[in-house]
Amino acid sequence: MSQQSTEPDGTRPERIVVVGGGLAAAKAVEGLRERGYTGSITLVGAEEHLPYERPPFSKGVLLGNEEPDSATVHDRDWYAEHDVELLLGTRASAVDLAGRTVTAGGRTLPYDALLVATGSRPRHLAMADGSGAPVAYLRTRDDSLALRPQLREGVSVLVVGAGWIGLEVASAARQDGADVTVVEPAEVPLARVLGPELGERFAQLHRDHGVDLRLGVGVEAIEHGDDGTDVTLSDGSHLHPDLLVVGIGVEPEVELAEQAGLEVDNGILVDARLRTSDPHVWAAGDVANHDHPVLGARIRVEHWDVALNQGTYVAGSMLGGDEPYTNQPYFFTDQYDWGMEYVGHVGPDGYDEVVTRGEPADGMTAFWLKDGRILAAMQVNDWDATDHLRPLVGRPAPEKLGDPSVPLAELH
Ligand code: NAP
Repeated sequence: MSQQSTEPDGTRPERIVVVGGGLAAAKAVEGLRERGYTGSITLVGAEEHLPYERPPFSKGVLLGNEEPDSATVHDRDWYAEHDVELLLGTRASAVDLAGRTVTAGGRTLPYDALLVATGSRPRHLAMADGSGAPVAYLRTRDDSLALRPQLREGVSVLVVGAGWIGLEVASAARQDGADVTVVEPAEVPLARVLGPELGERFAQLHRDHGVDLRLGVGVEAIEHGDDGTDVTLSDGSHLHPDLLVVGIGVEPEVELAEQAGLEVDNGILVDARLRTSDPHVWAAGDVANHDHPVLGARIRVEHWDVALNQGTYVAGSMLGGDEPYTNQPYFFTDQYDWGMEYVGHVGPDGYDEVVTRGEPADGMTAFWLKDGRILAAMQVNDWDATDHLRPLVGRPAPEKLGDPSVPLAELH
């Protein structure tokens, strides 16, 4: 595909700056070169590491089954061969929209097109941070490698938050022999995404693997002294963990965009083509609040797939492509002997019913329905199913959806 124009006056971008050093940034840079863009590219990343994929760092790497470097998107030579300037370990400190420059590492970088892919950072639990107790967050490669040796037999780990990070850490910690308690204020884990029916399945999975799951309770106080750590829960009970792992969500890194004057509301507002309120600036990944043309709503997705695919997509948009980004949200998780994939999106209006087929041991699928349409679908331990689930999402539910004797392939 040849390079197209992006400017209203028809000129082509000759200088592209990418702020962010994650997967979205790496895929955008790759996409630009694949599309034949020959101008300059500078990638500014806050971490010292080359851009990498995050999922292994809460799964295989944390379990010691995968090498950290296997998550690196491209090695250093690739960036040199593709004439991409890397400014790693560098935080962009300002964007001047009128002058079209980025300030980073003492340099002023002019751009014709700018991608902001700054991602997100963990929400902090101030009470834990200020307590003096050993507290870990898991977001980066360095976080993961620091946490890994601490998850071992004889160590008691208190996981605060039963979201994706909390449950993946709980799974890794149990498999490494640690004692694990998980505290979550909601009555059912993952209910915001999966609803109570499937959230309860995950709760039981963790109980079956020996996790002490404390639901419907919060952390009231944390005290740390010579005798160790004393955590008071809202039900009055006390825990004495060796280590706390806090996974209570993330916040999009929007400060740079805000200071620049881009429109920000729960992330950087982007149109269907991932263009921000400034015509020379795009955003992708966790930080982008996307006007999704198929869902007919704004959505900001904090999963690997959106970094991967919006990153690749946005390269085309920056070069003038006018097809919107239409991918359905997708994510996966691995916990104990369950591998799960989910595609689609249940919006704020919720769903009417969940239809399930089979059981996880032999492969299970689940469908979330509203007004007779399939909003989202999931498979557990049936990796071939996802190709059949994707075309069903957004469509009216077939009559035999709940009949497991009818193969998935015959439903679409
Ligand atoms: P998350 O999935 O949003 O879950 C955060 C959990 O913490 C929620 O259950 C939340 O409850 C709970 N919580 C909020 N405040 C709390 C508090 N003060 N005390 C105890 N619990 C509290 O976020 P995460 O697990 O931290 O993960 C961070 C990001 O990485 C997310 O965007 C996640 O999607 C992504 N991630 C994805 C995967 C994957 O796709 N497999 C794996 C790891 C991480 P409420 O829901 O009631 O607020």
